[in-house]
Amino acid sequence: MTMKTLRLLLGDQLNHNHSWFHQTDENVIYLMAEMRQETDYVKHHIQKVVAFFLSMRNFASHLKSKKHQLVYFEIDDAKNLQHLEKLILKTIESYSIEKFEYLLPDEFRLDEQLKQICQNLPVPTEAFDTEHFYTTRTELTDFFQGKKLLLMENFYRMMRKKHNVLMIGANPVGNQWNFDHDNRKKYKGEVPIPKAKIFPKNVKEIIHQLEKMEVNTFGSIDAENFNWSTSREECLEQLDYFCQHLLKHFGDYEDAMHVEEKFLFHSRLSFAMNSKMLSPKEVIEHVVHYYHQKEDEITLSQVEGFVRQILGWREYVRGIYWKEMPNYSSMNALENYNKLPDFYWTGKTKMNCMQKAISQSLEEAYAHHIQRLMIIGNFSLLTQMHPDEVDAWYLGVYIDAIEWVEMPNTRGMSQYADGGILATKPYVSSGSYINKMSNYCGSCHYNVKEKLGEKACPFNSLYWNFLDDKKEHFKNNQRMAMMLNLLKKIPAKELYGIKLNVKEVMENLDAI
Ligand SMILES: Cc1cc2nc3c(=O)[nH]c(=O)nc-3n(C[C@H](O)[C@H](O)[C@H](O)COP(=O)(O)OP(=O)(O)OC[C@H]3O[C@@H](n4cnc5c(N)ncnc54)[C@H](O)[C@@H]3O)c2cc1C
Ligand code: SF4
Repeated sequence: MTMKTLRLLLGDQLNHNHSWFHQTDENVIYLMAEMRQETDYVKHHIQKVVAFFLSMRNFASHLKSKKHQLVYFEIDDAKNLQHLEKLILKTIESYSIEKFEYLLPDEFRLDEQLKQICQNLPVPTEAFDTEHFYTTRTELTDFFQGKKLLLMENFYRMMRKKHNVLMIGANPVGNQWNFDHDNRKKYKGEVPIPKAKIFPKNVKEIIHQLEKMEVNTFGSIDAENFNWSTSREECLEQLDYFCQHLLKHFGDYEDAMHVEEKFLFHSRLSFAMNSKMLSPKEVIEHVVHYYHQKEDEITLSQVEGFVRQILGWREYVRGIYWKEMPNYSSMNALENYNKLPDFYWTGKTKMNCMQKAISQSLEEAYAHHIQRLMIIGNFSLLTQMHPDEVDAWYLGVYIDAIEWVEMPNTRGMSQYADGGILATKPYVSSGSYINKMSNYCGSCHYNVKEKLGEKACPFNSLYWNFLDDKKEHFKNNQRMAMMLNLLKKIPAKELYGIKLNVKEVMENLDAI
C-alpha cells in the first residue's frame, strides 16, 4: 500500500499526461491553490491572472472527473491561508499525510521556496520532473561545457539530431538546418490572414473574486468574451487551427509587423505550452505530421521556422536560465538606469510603432516576437532603461510570461544586460529596420527618414546616441565593428545635433 501522499501542483504545471495521473490512488491527494504570492510578485495583466486561474480550475475539474482526490482553494476561499508553507502543513495534518511530493518548479523563486518548505515539513519529501520539456535543467550547461560561446544554432542542431526532428538519418531534411533567411518578408497583403481562433467565455465571476480580494492588476479584459484557450481541449483546437490555417505562411511572415494585424500567422500557443496544457513534443509532432501530409501546400521553411522556435529557442532559454540563475536576475552589463515612461501603461505616444505594440499588449496581453524585440525592447534599450524595470514590465504584461522564459528573452536577448551570454550583439535598430518590416511608419506622426528636428523619428537619433554612449562596451565585439565604423564617420557637428535631439527626447519621454 502506498503511503498517504500529498502532491502539490503549481499553476503552470497543468500537464494532463504526467505519469502521476496515469492511475488513481485513494492514498494520493493533490493540492492546488490560487495564491496571492503568485498574483503579487509583480503587477500582472488582468488577462494573465484570469487565464492561469481559469486553466487551473479546468485542470482541477479534469482531475476530479478522473476520480483523483483533490483539495483546491480558490483565491477568495476563507480557508485559503495564502501562505504556501502553512497551507501544505495544514493539509498534511488534516489528511494525516505521510509523504509530501511536488513537481520541480520552473522558476528559481519557487524552487528555492519549496526546498525551504521541505526542510520544515514533518514528513519525507520528494521532487519529480514535470515531464514537459525536452531537456533537463542542466542539459544545456553540460552541452556547452568548456565552450566560450553558447550559440543557439549549435544547441538547436544537437536537439534536432537527438530528437530526430526533421531529419533524414544524420542530415537535416532539405539538406539545410536553418531557413532563417527566407523568413523575413514584410506583409503587404499578398495572402489573406485568417481570423484569430478565439474561445469566448464569460469570466465575470473570476474577475469579481479578484476585485473582492483587491488583487492589483493592469490592462483590459472583455469579461463576457475572454478569448484565450484555458483548457486542454481548447489548446488542442488552437494547435489544429494553427496547422490548418497559419502554418502555411508562418515562416514567411515571422518577422513582419502590420498596423492592422495583431497576430499575423503566429500560433498564440505560448500560454498553452507554458502552463503545460500542451507539451512542446506534441506540438512539434503534430505540426511535422501535418506538414508531411501537406507537403504540396506547405514548404519546409515554414515548418523549420516553427520547430526552431520551440525545439531551439524555448529549450535554449530555459537552459540559459538554469545555468545563470540567480545572478542573471541582477545583471546590468550596459549600466542602464532609466525609468520606464508612463506610456508603457497607457500606450499614449505619438510613435505609431510603440503606440500599436504597447496598446495591443495592454488590450490582448500579447504581442508577437518581433514587436517585443524590435519595437518595445529596442526602444527600451535605446533609451537605456533599467533592465529591472523592463523585466518587470514584460513579466507582468504578457499572458505567457513566466520568469524562466521571460527573463532570458528580456534581460538577455532584448536588453543585452547579460553582456552577451545569450545574444552575440544587441538587438537595436534605427527606424529604417522598422520601416522595412512593417507599415507603421506610413501613418506615423514622425518621419522615419529624418534624424534631426521635431518630426524626426526618435529611433534614429536614439540609435546613434546609444552606439556612441556604449561604444566602450562594444569595442571588442566583431559583430558591432561595422556599426561602430559608421558611427565614426558621422561628423562631430552632426553627432552633437543627434545628442541634443536625444536630450530633448529623454526629457520629454511622455510627450513624444
Ligand atoms: C523581450 C521578449 C520577451 C519575451 N517574453 C516571453 C515570455 O515571457 N514567454 C514566452 O513564452 N515567450 C517570450 N518571448 C518569446 C516570444 O516572443 C513568444 O514566445 C511569442 O511571441 C509567443 O507568441 P506565439 O505563441 O504566437 O509564438 P509563435 O511565433 O507562434 O512561436 C511558436 C512558439 O515558439 C516559442 N518561442 C518563440 N520564440 C521564442 C523565444 N525567443 N523564447 C522562447 N520560446 C519561443 C513559443 O513557445 C511560441 O509559442 C519573449 C520575446 C522577447 C523578445
Ligand atoms: S517613424 Fe519611427 S516612431 Fe514612427 S512608426 Fe516609424 S519607426 Fe516608429
